[in-house]
Amino acid sequence: NGRPGSKKMRLQSARDAERSPAKGHKRQAPVKEQREKLPIALGRDAIVEEIRRNDVTILVGETGSGKTTQVPQYLLEAGIAGDGVIAITQPRKVAATSLAARVAVEQGVPVGGLVGYSVRFDESTSNSTRIKYVTDGMIIRELLSDELLSKYSIVIVDEAHERTLRTDLLLANLKSIIKRRNAGEGTSKGGKEKGRAQRTNPLKVVIMSATLDAEKFSKYYGNAKVLYVQGRQHPVTIYHTAASQQDYVDSAMRTFYQIHTDWPPGDVLIFLPGQEDIENLEKSVELYSKRLPVDIPGVAVLPMYAALPPNQQSAIFAPAPHGMRKCILATNIAETSITIPGIKYVIDTGKCKEKRYISRDTGTGFDTLLTKDITQSSAMQRAGRAGREGPGYCFRLYTEDAFKSMPLSAEPEIRRVTLTSSLLQLKCLGQDLEKLDFIDKPEQDSIASALATLYLLGALDDSKSLTPLGRTMAHFPLEPTYARTLAASFEHGCPSEILSILSVLSASSKLFIDNTDTREAASESRSKFRAVSGDHMTILNIVKAYEEIREGKGHEKGKAGRREWCKRQFLNERCLSEALEIRAQLRGVCERMKMDWTVSAGEGNDQPVLKSLLSGLVNQAAFLQADGSYKQIMGPSIVKIHPSSSLCDKKVPVILYDELVYTSQIYARGVSAISRSAVQELAVFKRRHSD
Ligand code: ADP
Ligand code: MG
Repeated sequence: NGRPGSKKMRLQSARDAERSPAKGHKRQAPVKEQREKLPIALGRDAIVEEIRRNDVTILVGETGSGKTTQVPQYLLEAGIAGDGVIAITQPRKVAATSLAARVAVEQGVPVGGLVGYSVRFDESTSNSTRIKYVTDGMIIRELLSDELLSKYSIVIVDEAHERTLRTDLLLANLKSIIKRRNAGEGTSKGGKEKGRAQRTNPLKVVIMSATLDAEKFSKYYGNAKVLYVQGRQHPVTIYHTAASQQDYVDSAMRTFYQIHTDWPPGDVLIFLPGQEDIENLEKSVELYSKRLPVDIPGVAVLPMYAALPPNQQSAIFAPAPHGMRKCILATNIAETSITIPGIKYVIDTGKCKEKRYISRDTGTGFDTLLTKDITQSSAMQRAGRAGREGPGYCFRLYTEDAFKSMPLSAEPEIRRVTLTSSLLQLKCLGQDLEKLDFIDKPEQDSIASALATLYLLGALDDSKSLTPLGRTMAHFPLEPTYARTLAASFEHGCPSEILSILSVLSASSKLFIDNTDTREAASESRSKFRAVSGDHMTILNIVKAYEEIREGKGHEKGKAGRREWCKRQFLNERCLSEALEIRAQLRGVCERMKMDWTVSAGEGNDQPVLKSLLSGLVNQAAFLQADGSYKQIMGPSIVKIHPSSSLCDKKVPVILYDELVYTSQIYARGVSAISRSAVQELAVFKRRHSD
């Protein structure tokens, strides 16, 4: 059962353990006072001095000590950045935007002024921006137009312990950029125009991490100086379950219930693997709190995950409404990236989502998000969140043995995800994945597979050199498959349609609100959008209908009307409004590249659109088999059409799909029917390309 077991262990005792635990619902101190109270404030002068003195500095400190929000401000205030910009990289978009918002408040400026951010499909900066929170992916993208990152005087690589692929790529590039910008010769490696910006514009690199594995970074950067920020961790009592839990969402619910009725005030943070589980638990906790007797305090349930809209993010930092207990449901974003005040109890499901490449021999040939057990290092971080303001409690929904058998720390992403997109970007920089000096080298197989995919897409030629098409593809902030689709749409005369479809596919939440209970009703009300060829043209029809409503052509007026309209068709309004923003960004990229995106194939002309999609998604097509299932063209798997697809019970010769869903069977989701001739044409087209 879900009762927290009786096994205890101490996480860490701190010197100030005897300080009284934080009382619930205390008033928030003014911002200046809050800043001065952070553990890092004591080390301010030393940190500034070391960074002033060294090209590369490594800073290690407990989560919540103030690294991410304070260090950039210290450096700016000490004048170390000169006229340049300070970049702080984050693995996650939502962390970058939320931290920029916080630091803007601390500086008393609007976001986009002195303090800004830049993440994929969303940017808020100006000429006056000096502190810029960016995703690691965005700064890698900036290398394409400015390979010395010359507008930055300091690059802070944050959350380095997470070892995302893009962070590793950045660390490797920064290593050579420092050599070129700080050596002051300027002619050594780069040749041509690259020598100019030097001497006057040296670069400083700061690597920040929440875990103690700093030695590896230090060695990698020629024994760079490591600074430790003294943490302020209170003891956390950890409970494990006596038996393993079948249903972690249910178990989390019961544990929360128990804390809420039996334990003293203090907010609760629950770690779950992803958005779906969060939304499910959110519903149950809300239901539960509505039924509470009047003498028991209420519950404020707040979710926190990557796709959460910015206007809802700030709520988790505000104190709970008077007399209520906050219950925050978060993914591992709350592990080290963002610190939520007021947490006294942590419930750890022991699960997270991990991106992993499934090889073509055994499956899809691309990255799939899988729910899996966390590592010991994650478990310790999660527990630590309970002890920031006073002694805390962590309820692990797994046994102590399960904890002991977890791997110590995660494998770096470079060893487990597809390298296709990075390989393409490196090719544009004239760099070789095989030769780059990484902290951990990628596997040969994984490089070979990325090369094969880029060749198939026409981005590389027989001699592994970048083609003009490949260069065009790299300019779009899209995965290579989608970038190829977009490039193809210009040849087939339908960029206008493809941009709408790709924008929906690139949004962070799904368009269709789909669950088994409502499937029939949803299908019924959406039938008016349904296209004969399948889900992609259906998406296009929906985007068009949504735009008409936005322009006020229907009865539904204003934001509320739009939301109501979406609800009636079981569509996710958040996805559609985000898609329109993404589309505007992508149109902007096309304009800068002098590509006319307004060209359209015209009403009811599906074929050019489907052909364009196929050019990019060649790996995601399957042929009909005699028994009614489909076999992948480029892989061994047998797939079925997902019940949510409009083609679900149809038999067509060839299908194209957006993704595979693994349950008891493999389902293809987001499916369109394509003609055999389109596939044959593509083969011809490809041959002509590589000539
Ligand atoms: P670290 O990077 O060392 O983990 P941070 O600089 O992220 O620490 O956090 C320092 C403090 O700033 C924490 O107490 C945290 O609660 C607070 N903070 C961060 N973001 C926000 C926000 N958006 N609103 C309010 N407080 C915030
Ligand atoms: Mg941080």
